Amino acid sequence: MRTLEILTKAKNEGWALGAFNTGNLEITKGIVQAAQSQQAPLIMETSFGELQHFGLKNFLSVVENFRQETGLTILTNLDHGGGLEECQAAIEAGYNLVHFDGSNLPFEENIKITKALVEQAHPKGILIEAEIDKILGDSRNHEEEAESVQASGNYTDPQKAADFVSQTGCDILAVFIGNLHGTYQTPPKLDLERLRMIKDQVACFFSLHGGSGLLAEDVKMAIKMGVVKVNVNTELRIAYRQTLENVLRGSDELAIYKIMPPVIAAVQKVVEEKIQLLGSAGKGGDNLSFPLV
Ligand SMILES: [Zn+2]
Repeated sequence: MRTLEILTKAKNEGWALGAFNTGNLEITKGIVQAAQSQQAPLIMETSFGELQHFGLKNFLSVVENFRQETGLTILTNLDHGGGLEECQAAIEAGYNLVHFDGSNLPFEENIKITKALVEQAHPKGILIEAEIDKILGDSRNHEEEAESVQASGNYTDPQKAADFVSQTGCDILAVFIGNLHGTYQTPPKLDLERLRMIKDQVACFFSLHGGSGLLAEDVKMAIKMGVVKVNVNTELRIAYRQTLENVLRGSDELAIYKIMPPVIAAVQKVVEEKIQLLGSAGKGGDNLSFPLV
C-alpha cells in the first residue's frame, strides 16, 4: 500500500502533504509545476463539483500523464464525497484516497457508511478519510470575522473521535479545531490543545481542511501533532481569478495559450509557498515512483 507508506513517512518525518483542489487543466498544471520545482509529493483533489466540470476519466488520465512525465508522487483524492455511491464510484475509478464527509448524518449512519467504504477501499490499497464534526465555511473569501463562524460549530470531541475511528477503521480523520474553509478578515486561530487531546486518544492520521489563510505557526504545530494532509483551495481560486482578470484587462489577446501562462504561474506560486510551509519539499524523490495503488 504505497499511499499508506507515504503518509506514514510524512508522519514519522514531521511533514505534511498538501492537498490542492483542481477543476481544470490550468490549475492542475500550476500544481504540477510547483511539485516539480520543489520536488514535492502532493495530493491532487477534486470536489464533486470540480470533478463534474473536469470529468472523472479526464482528471485521472491527466494526473497519470503528469506522474509519468515528472516521476513524482501525485496522489488523487475525492474531496468531501457526499454519499456512499459517489465515494464508491471514486474507489472503483482508482482514486488513491477518498474523503467521505458524513458530518451531516446521524453518528451511527456516518459510522455505517464509513465502515462500508473502508471495507471496499482497503483491499485496493485506497485510504478513507472521514469527518464527524462539520468543518464550517466554504472556499470563498469571506467578509465575516473567523471567530463568529467558529462559534457556531462543534469542535471535534476526542472521545467521540476515538469511538468513531475504532468502529470504522478509517485512515484519516478530518478534524475541526477552528479551521474553516475559505479566507476571513483575520486568520482563524486553531485549538491546538484540542488536537493534542485528539492525538492522545485517536490512532489514525489527521487532515487539516481550510489550509488557506491560517497562521503559519499554527499549521506547523498541527503537523507536529499528526496532521499529514493539509487542504488548500481558496488561495488557489483567488490567485487564478485575480490573475486572469488582470491579464484580460490589460490585453485584447484571444489565444488561450497566450492568456493562461501567467494564471498557471500564479497558482504555481501559491502551491510552492504551501509546500515550503508543510515541509514536503524534496520528499518526492524517485523512491516513491509508480505504480502507486
Ligand atoms: Zn474541506
